[in-house]
Amino acid sequence: MSSRRPRSVVSVAPGVVFVEGPVSNWVVLAEEDGVALIDAGYPADSDLVLDTVRWAGHDLGDLRRIYVTHGHVDHVGGIPGVLERHPHVQVLAHADELDNVRGPGRQQVTPAEIGGRLAAPRTLRWLARAIRSDALRPVTVPTARAFTLHDFAGRAMTPFPAVGHTAGSTAYLLPAAGAIVTGDAVVTHHDTQPRAWQPRPRMITPFFTADQETAVESARALPYPEVVLPGHGPAVHRVGSEWVPVAG
Ligand SMILES: [Zn+2]
Ligand SMILES: [Zn+2]
Repeated sequence: MSSRRPRSVVSVAPGVVFVEGPVSNWVVLAEEDGVALIDAGYPADSDLVLDTVRWAGHDLGDLRRIYVTHGHVDHVGGIPGVLERHPHVQVLAHADELDNVRGPGRQQVTPAEIGGRLAAPRTLRWLARAIRSDALRPVTVPTARAFTLHDFAGRAMTPFPAVGHTAGSTAYLLPAAGAIVTGDAVVTHHDTQPRAWQPRPRMITPFFTADQETAVESARALPYPEVVLPGHGPAVHRVGSEWVPVAG
């Protein structure tokens, strides 16, 4: 069992469990031929990720693949720990994101850039949480491969390009669940944003994004079904003209 605690775990639709992790989020999916994850948190989240697969009612031996929204360490950091125990699990990402996923170098804010930002509100609080999550551990996922449309044939999900945050950021639409998994292309809240901000779809703090202008265009072009499952912040759904957190 992990000593880390998720902020919330929500059964969004049959076979779709959203985990708002300690700092970043992931999704557990039931697929016809086994279990899949979308993202896997920070390095320190590996055990918690596996705990949530079991919590969702699955056998860990049925874990088949991990789809990646993007290669930042708060989304792929937990993958090596999962692969250590389940080496047969496939890791799939957009071709343009492979370098970020495989690492160890990635398109991500550097410690020096973060150092220059420490005076910004809430940055220190976020950084402390990131470091406790093992953010500085070098993360490599050499077996990650580029997905093709063939990988989604017959599956209840469709990848959508959501570039800008990183070169190959991807969102995953789950039509049967009326949901989209957005990674950091769209978040609902982030620890660097004011606590008073109500969770709703919004851009992550631009500091974390490689190309903000492109990211804004991508976020506008995404489909928004009833439910948004973001990379940070709670899951939200539409109630009238409002976005409201999905109850856990
Ligand atoms: Zn993130
Ligand atoms: Zn990110």
